[in-house]
Amino acid sequence: MTTAPILTARGLAKEFRGFRAVDGVDLDVAEGKVHALVGPNGAGKTTLFNLLTGFLKPTTGRITVGGRDLTGKNPEQVARHGVARSFQITSLFPQMSARGHLELALASPTPLGWRFWRSDRLLARYRDRALELLDQVGLADHAEMPAGNLAYGRKRALELALALALDPKVLLLDEPTAGMGLEDVDRTVRLIQQVREGRTVVLVEHNMKVVSSLADQVTVLQHGQVLVEGPYAEIRHDPRVISAYLGD
Ligand code: ADP
Repeated sequence: MTTAPILTARGLAKEFRGFRAVDGVDLDVAEGKVHALVGPNGAGKTTLFNLLTGFLKPTTGRITVGGRDLTGKNPEQVARHGVARSFQITSLFPQMSARGHLELALASPTPLGWRFWRSDRLLARYRDRALELLDQVGLADHAEMPAGNLAYGRKRALELALALALDPKVLLLDEPTAGMGLEDVDRTVRLIQQVREGRTVVLVEHNMKVVSSLADQVTVLQHGQVLVEGPYAEIRHDPRVISAYLGD
């Protein structure tokens, strides 16, 4: 690796009542790359994801972003250091338009922060930026549609736009293609290829076709530990990975 990693974990562990869901993970995410976290169900991917974004506090271990120690920081503080995760569909407001969601996200650039200062010029800027982001994720024609009426794939696109509203250096995506049909999967892959420009992407992904199309580096987790790490072409034939997926 030529440059220092933008995101690191060292000896990261998370215990739930004595059970180690994440058990001593070391991770180096290189700047500008797409890094996939994969592994069988229960491997600890979601827990690791929640640790990296401050939604869970580690039992032990350290996390750094851009060389700064962010261990134990809350999601707002982590977001302030340029790490954003895609929102969950369940957090969308069914009656609020797609544009409204983005304006809200732009006006409150951190999950808990809120800009009370308002001006017509600022509101116009949020509106323009909201429309730009909707255009970027292919939702330009759905700007005024209540989020609750958007089809599943479009709700996921809105989640992505909401994360992009924070203009993160590191974008974390939790199963961005889960539950999608082929067409939406292809569209999402193209979209991620586009939004990765100028940023680092970490994704938890089950669909190996998606991993092979997007990821520069893959970390395979099993039983909360790193089993194998490397480019997709190298890890895909690794017997340890095959046996982890077949369930040994
Ligand atoms: P993955 O995302 O790879 O499927 P998870 O991180 O969701 O794995 O879960 C890893 C393990 O930790 C599982 O055995 C799961 O049951 C357990 N686990 C996750 N969250 C909790 C929790 N809040 N309390 C207790 N056990 C948990």
